[in-house]
Amino acid sequence: MGKNNNNIYPIFDRMLTRADKEELLQQHSIMIWFTGLSGSGKSTIAISLERELQKRGLLCRILDGDNIRSGINNNLGFTDADRVENIRRISEIGKLFIDTGIITIAAFISPNKDIREMASNIIGKENFLEIFISTPIEECERRDVKGLYAKARKGEIKNFTGISSPFEAPENPALSLDTSILTVEESVNKLLELILPIVTLKKE
Ligand code: ADP
Repeated sequence: MGKNNNNIYPIFDRMLTRADKEELLQQHSIMIWFTGLSGSGKSTIAISLERELQKRGLLCRILDGDNIRSGINNNLGFTDADRVENIRRISEIGKLFIDTGIITIAAFISPNKDIREMASNIIGKENFLEIFISTPIEECERRDVKGLYAKARKGEIKNFTGISSPFEAPENPALSLDTSILTVEESVNKLLELILPIVTLKKE
């Protein structure tokens, strides 16, 4: 419980439920949580997956570093405490989308097990699909989309995941996608194979 909860009277029992929203949207909502190094392909795959889901009449929302760190989390940096708070807020926002029946894709490095476990606990394990974008660091560094690896090698960025800060690979991801081997289309097809049966609303 937070500190200032004394005067909060929940109205959840009077609000329409997630099931009502899912019925409206004709889909079952879920969190598709990408984890992987910078440049591994999380955003690229997320964007392509969103388009494929939309084509199939499925409503989706991407949460990624740019739309979160420039807005709701613009007061957070990269200390350990801020990284935890970053993911905690993202998870709470994700939960709101899922409770609205929306398929949600989170594309954050989320480098350690504890952080991903916190996300999964907030969102609910039954709603949480962990997808490991397992592209090797050599390939991420070769791409160096944002020039960050070069800066990290020169010591200009401290605590850079994979260089000066560890990345803990997930032990039991729902799916691993190595984009040094798979094309974007192949990765998205594998994701669709996994996701479509889950998000399809079961008829009574
Ligand atoms: P992240 O979101 O994990 O930091 P990005 O998606 O921003 O990664 O960057 C991945 C880069 O790799 C993009 O420039 C993308 O075009 C490129 N790329 C090359 N091949 C692939 C592939 N097979 N799958 C995904 N991305 C790829």
